[in-house]
Amino acid sequence: MEATVAVRELSKRYGAKEVIGKLDLELGPGVTGLLGPNGAGKTTLLRCLATALTPNSGRIDILGLDPADSSQRTKLRRLIGYLPQNPGLYPHFTAASMVDYIAILKEITDRRARRSEVRRVLAEVDLADSARIKVRKLSGGMRQRLGIAQALIGDPDFLIMDEPTVGLDPEQRMRFRTLTSRLGENRTVLLSTHQTEDIAALCDRVIVFSGGTTMFDGTPRELADGAKGRVWSSDSRPAEAQIFWRTADGSYRVVGERPSDGTAVAPTVEDGYLQLLGAGARAGS
Ligand code: ADP
Repeated sequence: MEATVAVRELSKRYGAKEVIGKLDLELGPGVTGLLGPNGAGKTTLLRCLATALTPNSGRIDILGLDPADSSQRTKLRRLIGYLPQNPGLYPHFTAASMVDYIAILKEITDRRARRSEVRRVLAEVDLADSARIKVRKLSGGMRQRLGIAQALIGDPDFLIMDEPTVGLDPEQRMRFRTLTSRLGENRTVLLSTHQTEDIAALCDRVIVFSGGTTMFDGTPRELADGAKGRVWSSDSRPAEAQIFWRTADGSYRVVGERPSDGTAVAPTVEDGYLQLLGAGARAGS
């Protein structure tokens, strides 16, 4: 893999609390999903890569540039698109002026070029007809799409998105997957999500992040396969299984030991993830 992003021994602390400890990571073109429980350090890692947060130690190389060097950092920021968890959108701006503002920060100085870029990114997220609506009047899903639109300004080579599908309805989520898959064909895309379906549907690679370190790094298929022989369907409520839940057809899906009436079922990415976290929790207990 040709690495476009390389992280070496990255550490980040908040006060005395170490959130990321000596992390090594390489990313290449394609869509990589970051999956992990709340508090795992995903946002912290994304913020470090977006140059919004300075690590305590370690080296980051993005597209051949070093964010620790101020002149390279400025250059780098024009090549990065970042959707933060709570994008700071200004309520009194219209959707178009909000994106235009980001385009100015990205130094797209030519007015005509900027106007057409604003139109392009709003169309990408299906907000072309809402360009003149004020941010405060947009629904949660529309604001989220506006956040995605501002990250697309300037066609960044490295796109970082923190929980991009939060607040999107199923149809919008489909559109997002199509858009992101296309972007990942020749750019580096890193996104965090809680949705294992997003990982299965659009990521080439998945990294499970927990406690500031990598617990798994591979394809979504490999993550799912980690639960092979550990996923069951059962008609009666399991007594001792590690992890189970009731499915739409009324049966129980069990990840762990076989319940007495359990029938083996093919694992999904969600099963693989739960199995991995369950195994980690058992190892740590
Ligand atoms: P995730 O995105 O995986 O939920 P975060 O990177 O947001 O994880 O947080 C990792 C840990 O760092 C959490 O325990 C969180 O409380 C803590 N944390 C995050 N931001 C700050 C901050 N600005 N100051 C202090 N602690 C923080």
